[in-house]
Order: sequence, then structure tokens, then C-alpha cells
Amino acid sequence: MTPATSERAALVAELLAGSERAVVLTGAGVSVPSGIPDFRTPGTGLWEKVDPMEVAHIDAFRRDPDRFWHFYGDRFAKLDGKAPNAAHHAIAELERRGFVRGVITQNVDRLHRKAGSRNVIEVHGSIEWSVCPGCGARVGIDQVLAQLHAGAGTPRCEACVSPLKPDVVLFGELLPAAPMSAAFALAGEADLMLAVGSSLEVYPVASLPGVTLDAGGRLALVTQGSTPYDGQAEVKLAGDVVAELEAVLAALDA
Ligand code: ZN
Repeated sequence: MTPATSERAALVAELLAGSERAVVLTGAGVSVPSGIPDFRTPGTGLWEKVDPMEVAHIDAFRRDPDRFWHFYGDRFAKLDGKAPNAAHHAIAELERRGFVRGVITQNVDRLHRKAGSRNVIEVHGSIEWSVCPGCGARVGIDQVLAQLHAGAGTPRCEACVSPLKPDVVLFGELLPAAPMSAAFALAGEADLMLAVGSSLEVYPVASLPGVTLDAGGRLALVTQGSTPYDGQAEVKLAGDVVAELEAVLAALDA
């Protein structure tokens, strides 16, 4: 690691240590080291042979739930087998030590919770639950996976036999109101937002750093590739997300 890199990590550590209401915002990049490709990156694994905008669209679910689950069941099973990586653990550690108040995430993979983060706002939902559009029942992932593993095809509600819908935001759906308002509140109160592994291009989540900045808070970025906020950030760590966050933790210990 070059001295310049560790100096930037030390600056992020300094910002964290000097803040009182810091919040972390994460995107797909934080889960890439866990083997979960960012589906918006062309030619990466899971979404290679299909157009996610087509198969993971709310209209596709409504029109043909069997076809939807034929695809999405595979995604469920793959995500369920993944473990949090050192970046998730570093973020959980920041919360445990009182440096951040919580994590706002665009990821549906549950890995922040598995790593021990407690205040996790999942603005795109989570694979933890599926919901019944018929009667509103909520069904846990273990039951959904059991149905999928049993080869019964589309997971269905036990009460009313409707096809279940994953409690994640599909293309064509609005983001859930309660998590979004919690996210906007945290961002507005934050004196520091640490945005990790997100290109900050997908709205409305992409507006959250702006909410923090407008309220007088500061922004630090840990992400490869450019973001619309590069010019407004106090500091940007553009290396590998695991190495960068571990350098920040090491700087906090120094
Ligand atoms: Zn039902």
C-alpha cells in the first residue's frame, strides 16, 4: 500500500473519530468480495444470460410467477449460501465501537446482519422474507428454500396458495416507504456519511449523500470507479473495499 493510500485511510479514521452521528451507506461493491457480482456489471455470472430488467421486473412476476421463480429461486439459493466478508465485518465493528449509528444498504443479501451490524436499513428489501400478495402473510427464507428444494416449483402461501413474492424491490416497484424515510432521517442527521461500494447512481438512494451534504455533514467515499459525488467528498478511497476498510480500522487503532 502506498503512503498516500494509508494517509487517506487515516483521514477517514479521523473523520469517523471526530463525528458523532456518522452513517454508512453501502451498495453492491461491498458484497462483491463475498462472491456476489454486481448485476449491473455486464457479463458477470448470475445475470449473464438474462436481462434482469425483464426477469426481475414486477410485471414479470405478476404475468408469470412460475417463470419468475424459475429464475429468482436460483438467486435466492445462491445468495443464501454466501457469507459476509471482511468489509461487512469492518462496518459491523465500526457500529459496535460506536463510530457509526447504522448502515443503509441497497443490498438484499442480509450480509450486514450476518456480520453483526444491528441498525441495518435495507432500502431494497431483503431475501429474509417473502410476502403473499393475496393475504399479506410473511414467510421466512427457510420455508421458501424448503419449497424450492422440494421441487414444488413456485413457492406458495400455505394459507391462500397465492405465489409468494420476495420482499425485495423488483424493477418497476417503488422503494418501501418506511425504510426510505428512516434512511433519509439518518442521512439528514448525519455529520458524516461513509458511502461504501456504491456508484451512487441509482435514485432515490443516490440522493442520500446530497441530503447529508445539504444538512452540513461531510462525505467520505470508499468505492472503485467514479461517482457523481467525487468532487464533494472530503476523501475517497478507491482501492479494494476490504483492504481500504481494514486500513481505516487499523488507523483507528493507531
Ligand atoms: Zn396468502
